[in-house]
Amino acid sequence: MEALNSTFLYCDQLVRDFEKVIKTPIVNKSAVYYTGIDLGTAYIVLAVLDENYQPVAGAYRFASVVKDGMVVDYIGAIRIVRELKQELEQKLGTELIYAAAALPPGTFTLDSGAIKHVVQGAGFEITNLLDEPTAANAVLKIKDGAIVDIGGGTTGIAILKDGKVIHVADEPTGGTHFSLVIAGAYKLSFDEADQYKRDFKNHRELTPVLRPVIEKVSSIINRHVADYQVKEIYLVGGTCCLEGIEDIIAKQTNLPTYKPQNPMFVTPLGIALNC
Ligand code: ATP
Repeated sequence: MEALNSTFLYCDQLVRDFEKVIKTPIVNKSAVYYTGIDLGTAYIVLAVLDENYQPVAGAYRFASVVKDGMVVDYIGAIRIVRELKQELEQKLGTELIYAAAALPPGTFTLDSGAIKHVVQGAGFEITNLLDEPTAANAVLKIKDGAIVDIGGGTTGIAILKDGKVIHVADEPTGGTHFSLVIAGAYKLSFDEADQYKRDFKNHRELTPVLRPVIEKVSSIINRHVADYQVKEIYLVGGTCCLEGIEDIIAKQTNLPTYKPQNPMFVTPLGIALNC
């Protein structure tokens, strides 16, 4: 389904600007910098905004330090965040002080302490710790509907009514499972399968292979939206980069389903906006 262009104007521009500064940072004289840290199952992403909340730098690294929203390699997580921080500080010629981070919905009591300590352990002053859908919606600015964040380890669902989150859930199916399906079907290692999946050239060919797992994600969405008269679904998260995933989800849920041009960086940018 076509993206709702007007809904995603701000989002698409912000993500495009962010993709540019990942490659070429903007060295300016901002009085303050805000860093958003997204500690994911598959990636750790740092997004840096200037005093006008414009992207100036960004970096990400493939990492297995978090599983289903839980930090499983605490030391490794601190090391990677610190390395990415130093890399960005070098590029920007300034110290990055303030950072915010986020957690999948429903895991606050489980792991907010660990995430906070990772951010502080890497040398940041933590200014905010929020839930991922709230972060994503700082970029999407949706009033009513469901934000579905299909990440690496999990699918997060947040239902919004009049701009307020009224229901959240986080279920253990995500891009990791997609890669496992490809590994099985093509007799590849997990890493090879994940790489194959991330190549946009392969998406068309992969659709029939991945259809059952996309249908499983759709059934999870259906279960959560059933009681809330949800009229629209908005997709974010790296797994939604998969071409055509929105069409299968729209068909399975019977709901218009939209996604921004690059759904992968929406949450990290939303975290930085809340710093
Ligand atoms: P979680 O939210 O579950 O903790 P995460 O924050 O690491 O995990 P994201 O960064 O949103 O999740 O998404 C990571 C997933 O997106 C991985 O499974 C990765 O393989 C997948 N992914 C990234 N780029 C693409 C792409 N171009 N095509 C298909 N899948 C992709």
